[in-house]
Amino acid sequence: MTKVSFWAKVRNLIGQKNRIDQHTLEELEEILVEADIGLETTDFLIENLQKNLSKQRNYMPSEVTPILKNEIVKLMLEDGKGLPLSVEIQKTKDNIPHVILVVGVNGSGKTTSIGKLAYRYRTEGHSVLLGAADTFRTGAIEQLSIWAQRASCSIVKQQLNSDPAAVAYDTIQSAVAKKIDYVIIDTAGRLYNQVSLMNELKKIKSSIAKVLSSAPHEVLLVLDGSTGQNAVIQAREFLNQTQVTGLVMTKLDGTAKGGVLIGISQQLRMPIRYIGTGEAITDLQLFDKEEFVDSLFD
Ligand code: GDP
Ligand code: MG
Repeated sequence: MTKVSFWAKVRNLIGQKNRIDQHTLEELEEILVEADIGLETTDFLIENLQKNLSKQRNYMPSEVTPILKNEIVKLMLEDGKGLPLSVEIQKTKDNIPHVILVVGVNGSGKTTSIGKLAYRYRTEGHSVLLGAADTFRTGAIEQLSIWAQRASCSIVKQQLNSDPAAVAYDTIQSAVAKKIDYVIIDTAGRLYNQVSLMNELKKIKSSIAKVLSSAPHEVLLVLDGSTGQNAVIQAREFLNQTQVTGLVMTKLDGTAKGGVLIGISQQLRMPIRYIGTGEAITDLQLFDKEEFVDSLFD
């Protein structure tokens, strides 16, 4: 089954039946298991659905859809962080920069998402400073510079292979001096099991805090949504290693509706802040779970 046809299958299954019986639920379970929702979340969802449906009678499709929808919304609400998922974090009023550190594996879409986010804040009328703390990969600094130009914001950068913690330090210092609204720090791609690179992340964090003790205010973990359950596994390991405040799920343009978003919410208890839906500068949306679930059933 392609990812694209998944929601269509759910709709077809429910929509084409005259009556929803236990057998239909088993078929639904199969579809969910094959999709990116993940085993754990599927079990949870089907169990809750069954609790709502009496075995004594069959149901009309129009009765089941709202229940399924409601159950999905309910499990997505369980983010456990108390962060409003669909509301921008209010810019701190005490005139200090709001610092966002962006982490994740290579190629997940960190730099691209930073460009889009910078553009978004600029469009809202805020000043933005980017920090090029991916000093590891050839071309990374240049790539971020291009995004800074596109978003018309400033950037702090040093040489290739310079100390990323020093770049982060300089960036925050400069942002404080210039009273910048938003600082976004790019980092090199790393895997949770690369001990020295994970330690480097700690160094980056502590040098940010040396300049501004409350920072970083957000640590966004960027995940490639097109990798499905692998993204969930990766995220779980990453979260064990470092404190993250929210997720950015990228490359959802290729996967239609992204069943993985449901699994992620339920399994990680981590708010999804943004979703990336393309390579253009405007292809970043604030994630709104209610809107998302609605769109699944439209
Ligand atoms: P990084 O290594 O994490 O910094 O990843 P990059 O930002 O360099 O992105 C890696 C590739 O993914 C680039 O070719 C991007 O254009 C692409 N990319 C990033 N976000 C998205 C997205 O939301 N949709 C699509 N289709 N491509 C994306
Ligand atoms: Mg990058």
